[in-house]
Amino acid sequence: MSRPIPPYVVKFGGASVDDPERIVARLRALGIRRRPVVVVASARAGVTDLLKSILESPRDRALHLRAMAAIARRHPGLPPSGGRHLERLARLVRSIEELGAADPALADRLLSQGERLAVAWLAARLGAREIPATAVEADRLGLLTDDHYGRATVLIDRSRAAVRAGLRGLLAEGRVPIVTGYFGRSLEGHVATFGRGGSDYSATVIGAILGARRVELIKHEVSVLSADPRLVPRARPIPRLSYEEAEELAQFGAKVLHPLTVEPARMAGLEIVVRSLEHPDVATVIGPPRRPDGMRAVTLLSPLRLVRIHVTGGRRRPGVVADASERLSEHGINIVTLFTSSTCLSLVLERGRGRRAREVLEPLFRSGPAKLEGPLPVSLVTAIGDGVLDDLSSIPASILARAEGLSATPRSISLAVAIPIGGAAVRALHRALVERTRR
Ligand code: ASP
Ligand code: MG
Repeated sequence: MSRPIPPYVVKFGGASVDDPERIVARLRALGIRRRPVVVVASARAGVTDLLKSILESPRDRALHLRAMAAIARRHPGLPPSGGRHLERLARLVRSIEELGAADPALADRLLSQGERLAVAWLAARLGAREIPATAVEADRLGLLTDDHYGRATVLIDRSRAAVRAGLRGLLAEGRVPIVTGYFGRSLEGHVATFGRGGSDYSATVIGAILGARRVELIKHEVSVLSADPRLVPRARPIPRLSYEEAEELAQFGAKVLHPLTVEPARMAGLEIVVRSLEHPDVATVIGPPRRPDGMRAVTLLSPLRLVRIHVTGGRRRPGVVADASERLSEHGINIVTLFTSSTCLSLVLERGRGRRAREVLEPLFRSGPAKLEGPLPVSLVTAIGDGVLDDLSSIPASILARAEGLSATPRSISLAVAIPIGGAAVRALHRALVERTRR
């Protein structure tokens, strides 16, 4: 048997799904008649937020009715198969109202309706434009995940056979599968989502499983920029990133990419291309490590909380860092980053975890002379890229002096600052480390 031609996987984000004409143009430009193409779609713009609003006010029937009406309006001309998803949505909302809350698995079931509606709607729109599209729901396809609702990870090896068989079957019939992003089916058999922006991750997972060489992520933003353009109007596009750099960028808050997106691509050695429909000629390519070329970027992660532990004679007390992080992980509290000195340990945590972290850490230090401080609201500003450490001295003293913590490696510098100066710190680092270095 001859090996199948590797398909091209292209993911359309919420805002780009709004425009079927442009999607058709992009699919034609990709040579849809000559090569197999798989589309991954996220929910239409604003739909996931509407679903979230239902979860946040589980008893507010009036709000639910408004949200459902708004969701229905975003999917005009749904085919009957898609109408089923609206009915299911109404039933799920009813059960949430009756229970007065949704457990994490029920919440994920509700959230997945946005993508189910989107693929039904998009497949119909493409069909009307003579693209033989078939809507595919990832959980039914056999995309398996662990049981961490709201932040699930795909079990790629266990998904491979079913996903390949299902999608290759459709491709062999000349169809264009339009697959839901954002979720799969947990080992327990429920819907499990990957967290906000998770359709990027769906696309690279599917690309890796199908042996694609490239996965294209179509975004609203113009490629990956050196900083958030809302904070730094002079931010510039970044033409190439290594997997490691892209991962660091995603981890440290560049909202353009879901943090898990890069891993499947690296594993399969496929390239990720990030571009927008408005400017299809500008793109960022993420691939194997390249030669240093001065790529740099600055990211902001906010709001976060900082808890500080002063350990008198800290160096003489071995294992404080290990004890503290073990304790936190036992309680499901994730450490975003940490700063240490000989007598002080600063832990940066997600918002809403600071107080609990203090409570679970307190007993650890009760016997020794230690002092806990916080939680303090902070933002984490990170500069990533070749040789940033060499330019540490060009960061203005006014910013450094106000840092609640600082860590540096040859390729990244992170500062925790009070939230109100987060934006100013991003601009200062961008000026010092990106704009001033012309390589
Ligand atoms: N619709 C989901 C979200 O908004 C997933 C995605 O957009 O990738 O988070
Ligand atoms: Mg979305």
